[in-house]
Amino acid sequence: MHILVTNDDGVQAPGLLALAVAMRPLGKVTVFAPDRNWSASGHVKTMERPLRVRETTLADGSSAFISDGAPSDCVALPLLGLVEEQIDMVVSGINPNANLGHDVTYSGTVTAAMEAVISGVKGVAVSLDSPEGFKGQLDYSAAANVGRRVVEKVMADGLPEGVVLNVNVPYRKENELKGYMITRQGLRVYRDALDSRLDPRGRPYYWIGGQSPTGVAEEGTDFGALAEGYVSITPLQLDLTYYKAMDVLKKWEF
Ligand code: MN
Repeated sequence: MHILVTNDDGVQAPGLLALAVAMRPLGKVTVFAPDRNWSASGHVKTMERPLRVRETTLADGSSAFISDGAPSDCVALPLLGLVEEQIDMVVSGINPNANLGHDVTYSGTVTAAMEAVISGVKGVAVSLDSPEGFKGQLDYSAAANVGRRVVEKVMADGLPEGVVLNVNVPYRKENELKGYMITRQGLRVYRDALDSRLDPRGRPYYWIGGQSPTGVAEEGTDFGALAEGYVSITPLQLDLTYYKAMDVLKKWEF
């Protein structure tokens, strides 16, 4: 088993190393990650500029590839042959914040796993539901062990073709996790606000600001599972077609 570990927070993020270390008992691990933070970059394919790749060393002395591309580029490059040995699975994370509901199309963590599935390779995204405004060093140990447990299950039982697993882990000690829940995407509530300012030359510039998003903790959803202390596992697909709407639109007369 050859596992590619990547993330969207950049190669120096502690969640990446925690995930890589957790995967090592399962097989060969190759780390291929972006050289900077790409959080909320969505699904990217870099086409208008060349990509550079070099080798670096992680905090534990192990080697890793880094590129100036997006997380999905860091999956595409090795799968297209930059890493010669066949890759069986891509595991992305551990993101320091949850990826829930509508987050999944923004998330570099999740879209890296989607890139794997597009190439016919299994993809798992792992995110930690850390408390809002948390300062200091996050403890990734429970989420890392959960990630390993989920990957073990995928190895043992397989996955339906085309499925991306979006795993979110409550911020608790491992023995305080309630268990694992298979969920659907819940409703993310964004509280974005336009922040307009003036630069020193009097020209306007803008930030998408506002408060952190919240969500609706409905039963059966990713938000609901986390609110009760369960690991949330949401099977995602890349087919975004809204089939019920097709019947409505087919009645349109052009
Ligand atoms: Mn991130």
